[in-house]
Amino acid sequence: MTEKTVKISHSKLSDFNKCKRFYKYRYLDELIPKKTKSALQFGSIFHEAVEALYKGFSIETIQEKIKQTIESIDKSFFDQKDCDDLEWCAVVLKSAIQAWKKRFYDEDKKQNIEIVELEQKHSKIPVKNPLNGRRSKFRFSFISDMLVRINGNLWLVEYKTASQVGNSYINRLDIDSQISAYLVFLEEKYKESIEGVIYRILKKPSIRIRKNETKNAFYERLNALFGNETDNYLIEYRFSRTNEELRDFKLDLWEQANYLDQCEKKKMFPRNTSSCMQFGTCSYFYLCTKKINSELFYEKMKS
Ligand code: SF4
Repeated sequence: MTEKTVKISHSKLSDFNKCKRFYKYRYLDELIPKKTKSALQFGSIFHEAVEALYKGFSIETIQEKIKQTIESIDKSFFDQKDCDDLEWCAVVLKSAIQAWKKRFYDEDKKQNIEIVELEQKHSKIPVKNPLNGRRSKFRFSFISDMLVRINGNLWLVEYKTASQVGNSYINRLDIDSQISAYLVFLEEKYKESIEGVIYRILKKPSIRIRKNETKNAFYERLNALFGNETDNYLIEYRFSRTNEELRDFKLDLWEQANYLDQCEKKKMFPRNTSSCMQFGTCSYFYLCTKKINSELFYEKMKS
C-alpha cells in the first residue's frame, strides 16, 4: 500500500512553528477571521499590483483595480479606525505602485532582464529525506514571486511590504526559510544553481491623511515623498546563500515536517501562549480563550 502524502508549504510550517493551535484552526478546521487585518490586505493588494505590472497592465488599469479591490472589501466588522486605515491604504497603494514602476520595473526593462517565471505555482514537489536522499511522503507547494535571468544566471526576485526595515529585518534574510525553500526547490527544478536573491521591499510610509486634506492632496504628498526619498522607501537588497545554509534548511524542513505529521496523527496541538500578542493580538485569540459567541467572528475558508 502506498503511503498517504502530507502536503506542506512555507506558510503552513511557519504558522505551525509559531503555534500548533493556530495551525489547527487555520489549516485543519479551515477557519479564517471575518475581519482581516489591514496590514495583510495592504501586502496582498500590493503583491497583486506588482504582478499585474509585470504582466503588462498599464499603471492606470492597476490603480483602478486597487481602487475596486478596496471598495469590494466587506466592511461589516470594521470600526472607524479600520475604515480610516483602508482609506489610507487605497491612496498609499495608488502612489506606491507608480513609484515601484519607476524604481524597479522601468529599470528591469532598460536592462532587458529576462523573466523566466512570474508567480508560478509549484505544486506537491516531493521532499527528499536529507539523511539518505530518498523521496518522502511530504509534498511541498509554493509560489515564488519571480525568477529572472541576468547575464546568463538565474536570480530569485521576491517583493514584500514592511513597516520597518532595520538591520534586524535585513540580517534575518540570511536564514529566512522561505527564501531557502524557494532556492532549494527551484535549483532542483532547473538543475542549475541560482546566483542569488533580489529582495525588494516597499516600506510603508508613516504619514497619514491630515485633517481637511483631500485624498488628491495626500496622493501628491506621497508621490513627492517616494520621489525624494526613493532609496528609503523602495529598498533593494541582493544576497546569496551558502551551501551550508541550504543544507541546514533541508534538515530543519525535514524535522519540522515530521513534527507536524506527528501532531496531526496524535491530534494534539499545544498552545504557545507566548505567541498570542507577538505580532498584535492573534486572530484566533477569541476562539482560543473561548469568549462567548466567538465562533461568529470566523468563517470556513472557501476552497
Ligand atoms: S491565541 Fe495564542 S495560543 Fe491561541 S492560537 Fe493564537 S497564538 Fe496560539
